[in-house]
Amino acid sequence: MKTIIEPFKIKTVEPIRFTNRIERQKILKRVGYNLFNLHSDDVLIDLLTDSGTSAMSAKQWAGIIEGDEAYAGSRSFYRFERVVRNTTGFRHIIPTHQGRAAEKILFSIMGGEGKVVPNNTHFDTTRANVEMSGAEAVDLPVAEGVVPSLKADFKGNMDLEALKVFIQQNGSHRIPLCMITVTNNSAGGQPVSMENIRRTAEICHLNGIPFFLDACRFAENAYFIKIREKGYGNMSVREIARKMFSYADGCTMSGKKDALVNIGGFLAVNDDELAQQARNILVVTEGFPTYGGLAGHDLEALAQGLEEVLEEDYLKYRIRSVTYVGEKLIQLGVPIFQPPGGHAIYLDAKDFLPHIPPAAYPGQALACELYLHGGIRSCEIGSVMFGKTHTETGTFKPARMELLRLAIPRRVYTQSHMDYVVECVGEVFKKRKSLHGMRIISESPVLRHFTAQFEPL
Ligand SMILES: *Cc1c(COP(=O)(O)O)cnc(C)c1O
Repeated sequence: MKTIIEPFKIKTVEPIRFTNRIERQKILKRVGYNLFNLHSDDVLIDLLTDSGTSAMSAKQWAGIIEGDEAYAGSRSFYRFERVVRNTTGFRHIIPTHQGRAAEKILFSIMGGEGKVVPNNTHFDTTRANVEMSGAEAVDLPVAEGVVPSLKADFKGNMDLEALKVFIQQNGSHRIPLCMITVTNNSAGGQPVSMENIRRTAEICHLNGIPFFLDACRFAENAYFIKIREKGYGNMSVREIARKMFSYADGCTMSGKKDALVNIGGFLAVNDDELAQQARNILVVTEGFPTYGGLAGHDLEALAQGLEEVLEEDYLKYRIRSVTYVGEKLIQLGVPIFQPPGGHAIYLDAKDFLPHIPPAAYPGQALACELYLHGGIRSCEIGSVMFGKTHTETGTFKPARMELLRLAIPRRVYTQSHMDYVVECVGEVFKKRKSLHGMRIISESPVLRHFTAQFEPL
């Protein structure tokens, strides 16, 4: 088989800045060992997130010029609406400035005190929006989904038996909706099978519970279904995506992932009454229904991005280039969440640094060392993000897993950038015994990972 190459050539370049270890040591101290506080000019390879970091195509930039900035009835809105409707099949398409704005609107209508919301795994902003409404967010991933070393095709799946028990125990009246996140970002970027989506929807609908997709990486998920699930090899990714959406009553979407844009998102629903309520909130918090929280030109770029993301050459390259990094790291003996996910490689920090207990944040320690060593910025997805320290008793509840995510921006880095990343991780792995844990010295009550300050132990 020949090398799978980037299905594009580079038209515009952006220089990156080199720093040395001594400079980075000072910088780390200054930012309280929180990589969210870094200036991006001080980062060489930025793998903090794949969100909003995509390189847009020439056609998307052309759309930025073409954008119709009419306050109401913008031509760009109608193009956006047509593309989203063609892709998802949903009736009402509501543009928002990003995914969490769609979540905020959805959960302020459907959430509330006493309610419980199941999800294969809530993303951090989804959980925060469920909890801010007063409801409880519950994760029901399949058992194999939380064992990093175990290889399986669809580790992002919902645990269907657990879902049935959950509905029985809570009663459907307390469950305003159930969600599946594709791919499962907080659990290794693993895909969810069509069968699992279908059966989850079936269980929900039997119990009168609306079923929603958190669709941020729907195209990557659809591609995994195509190559891994029986019966989908000959279907186009577009058809597969459409089928995934056909089981759901609506979705929230961050365009900053699989719509290949730097800003944008939407809420899509079939229910007329729900759409009306959502638009009422939209007008107050985001904007008029034909632009939401976006400019006309953003809607153009989003529509174009949604077309491009479903091109199979693109998806083949995308999934292969992430897998490439994973395979190289496995060859070096580095413990990663297996198999490689769709948008990121997740290092298993618990296994990487067995001498650092979860309470001393091994993922954060590894994130800081990787920055120090190679100027690489990554993101802890472990006990800093999902662990809890009880304010009165001081007892510590760790996250299910201690992961360090190397998120790979779409169409941004080349193979040699990735080879450099692999070398750096390999070198840090060799000296892993010399790494120390971290301590939190200040934190905020919600989404603490964004602002917490740390100190090395
Ligand atoms: C990014 C993301 C969101 C939130 O979207 P934003 O555009 O960042 O607000 C929600 N769910 C998942 C799975 C995500 O990856």
